[in-house]
Amino acid sequence: MNISFDSYETVVGIECHVQLLTASKLFSTGANAYGAPCNALVDIVDAGLPGVLPTINKKAVEFAIKLGVALSCTINKESIFARKHYFYPDLPKGYQISQFDRPICEHGKLEFMVDGKIKTIRILRIHIEEDAGKNTHLEGSRSSYVDFNRAGTPLLEVVTEPDLRSPEEAVAAFKALRQLVTFLGICDGNMEEGSLRADVNVSVMKKVDSEFGTRTETKNLNSFRYVGQAISFERRRQIIEIESGKTIRQETRLWDPNTKESRSMRSKEEAHDYRYFPDPDLLSLRVPDNMIETVSATIPELPMARFRRYRQDFGLNDHDAQMLVSEKEISSYFESALKIHNNPKGIANWIINEVLRSTKSDVDVDDGCIFSTNIPASSIATIVKLIDNQTISAAIGKRVFSILETLPAKTPEEIIKENGWQVVGDDKTIGNFVSKVIAENSVEVEKYRSGKTKVFGFLMGQLMKISNGQLEPKRATDMLMEALNKKD
Ligand code: ADP
Ligand code: MG
Repeated sequence: MNISFDSYETVVGIECHVQLLTASKLFSTGANAYGAPCNALVDIVDAGLPGVLPTINKKAVEFAIKLGVALSCTINKESIFARKHYFYPDLPKGYQISQFDRPICEHGKLEFMVDGKIKTIRILRIHIEEDAGKNTHLEGSRSSYVDFNRAGTPLLEVVTEPDLRSPEEAVAAFKALRQLVTFLGICDGNMEEGSLRADVNVSVMKKVDSEFGTRTETKNLNSFRYVGQAISFERRRQIIEIESGKTIRQETRLWDPNTKESRSMRSKEEAHDYRYFPDPDLLSLRVPDNMIETVSATIPELPMARFRRYRQDFGLNDHDAQMLVSEKEISSYFESALKIHNNPKGIANWIINEVLRSTKSDVDVDDGCIFSTNIPASSIATIVKLIDNQTISAAIGKRVFSILETLPAKTPEEIIKENGWQVVGDDKTIGNFVSKVIAENSVEVEKYRSGKTKVFGFLMGQLMKISNGQLEPKRATDMLMEALNKKD
């Protein structure tokens, strides 16, 4: 069959679960922490024991408002917690407390960069809900285990309108959301630990059509790569189904990262009837008048604003500006280096080309790992400063950096002093090296003198090489040129 995949438009909407960095759970005083021994952090409220009552965590509400304001949402002065019923062993109460028809935030927008352009999509809603526990099925064992540590953890669910048109756009939007929640300090953004997970809704339609096709939902993707792969897979699968005369069933699908395929989990007919109703144990959530202003005042400079500032004020290109705001930690690193030496372009280059390259194993922007380095930002600023004021050459700067990679606690000044790497500027020393280069490269010197002045670069390279890159570049250039032009 000859299928024209290009004649189809892909339509995507994402539902993103954001685990909040609160000290305690959403409705109890139980600790909200990752990595504790199984069932060590289970509070009676989160275990759903009879007779206990939930109390809303104020911090979680503040975080919801913070994200809502950052996404230009309307903040509803009154919202309602509802019970969402289903039966699963990791859900002790037999229902999850969530928000349904009256969420805390609605109708916002998210801006992000994709393909070198800024795209804006609409946010449908943000609601607050509690997380469930975690089931574990050990291979080969006939038993299943459940860990309730995660039960009751506060989550925000951000739902976008179906405004995304490709896997690339969806990945970029998901990345932008991660950037935003980490800049806001409401989520650690740790995808491996499941702090951020996405469900992707995908449908296809002929480009000439105007009505959306039937969508499927692929659940629980905890990596940018999986989001992209799951959408690409689903788009292709749906087009092939349609082209072979079948119709798309509305269904929930599960992604298998090993086979890079998804499979149907349940169809719409089998979908749960969640029997939503307002939780009688909780009052409706009223946001006090001054809370929105108080919370708004705590919002820092956001990634897109920072991106624009880096481009406009510092003259950085899109790629570099984007790299620097891609992670909150990278951006803070850049900002603190700038406080020591105000050369944004120079410092940006050093961070992108040296620091990020050297920490490659830790920072995988594709998978949203968290950037960390032992080399202080102040050391990078110092290297750039010493190059700028010609205390060292750029080549020596690189050598200083490679020593810092193994001995990050040393200062660049110490390293330069210990190795005697300061720039040599006196005419006598430079003159000696120049004579040596001229004596050792007679063929190239002849070429130069017969008019092929292009070999100058090569001879200059030789000069820097034999002098260990330590000669003051301007004076060395002048003296080499002088010597070459002087016919003996
Ligand atoms: P439900 O409550 O059934 O999950 P929602 O209206 O909340 O339905 O939509 C869930 C998600 O599905 C949203 O992110 C929305 O953008 C997306 N969506 C809705 N219709 C389509 C469609 N035809 N194709 C792709 N995504 C869609
Ligand atoms: Mg849904």
